[in-house]
Amino acid sequence: MKVIEHGWKWVRPLGRRSGGPPHIVVHHQAGTGSTEAIHRLHLANGWSGIGYHYHVRLDGSVHRGRPEWAIGAHSPKANDSVGICFEGNYETRKTMPARQLASGRELLTDLRRRYPKATVKRHKDFVPTACPGKYFPLAALTKAAPTPSAPALVAKAKIPVLKQRLLWYAADHGVPLTDARVAVVDASGSPSTGWGASAQRLAQRVSAALPGVKRTKQPTTELFRALK
Ligand SMILES: [Zn+2]
Repeated sequence: MKVIEHGWKWVRPLGRRSGGPPHIVVHHQAGTGSTEAIHRLHLANGWSGIGYHYHVRLDGSVHRGRPEWAIGAHSPKANDSVGICFEGNYETRKTMPARQLASGRELLTDLRRRYPKATVKRHKDFVPTACPGKYFPLAALTKAAPTPSAPALVAKAKIPVLKQRLLWYAADHGVPLTDARVAVVDASGSPSTGWGASAQRLAQRVSAALPGVKRTKQPTTELFRALK
């Protein structure tokens, strides 16, 4: 997955964690704002710089805070864990944008794969706080799925039935879905209903995997019937 690097200037050298992180701790930002804004805020707290290891923005972009080897500053009692901050206030925001959910899931899947002993915890599991908010979709973010983005997107997006069926088929049969979120979500994070290049790629991959169906990029009746 793509992580945006910022080349932060740390006020003091960062401490190094010994061994792997015992947990992966999720937070919400309790508001909105850039990763730079968090860095400035944490500097103002007298910390070495941004205290989280990752910042997942509402638009789905993933930003590096501290390097993974470093001790964090995000949760007393758990700073030896990897801290992820999700933009937004999930005490009041009831749904997570599909792109943020997909990226968050991808990041969590990757971290859990690399640190199999680490457990996913919420900030509030360590100290009394509302963080990451009562509407934070932890279950959806940690749900094991061969294709992290598809089921959640299908559930929330009002997309044509054929696209839904393509996505479900791909999810169930291990057809790569690298571009699937582009297929169902437009740049603003809203469901897209068109049949663009990414939907064509998806149709092509799924039709190639369907026994007895001619490989196609188009939303054909044959493809529709085969996916019933
Ligand atoms: Zn928190």
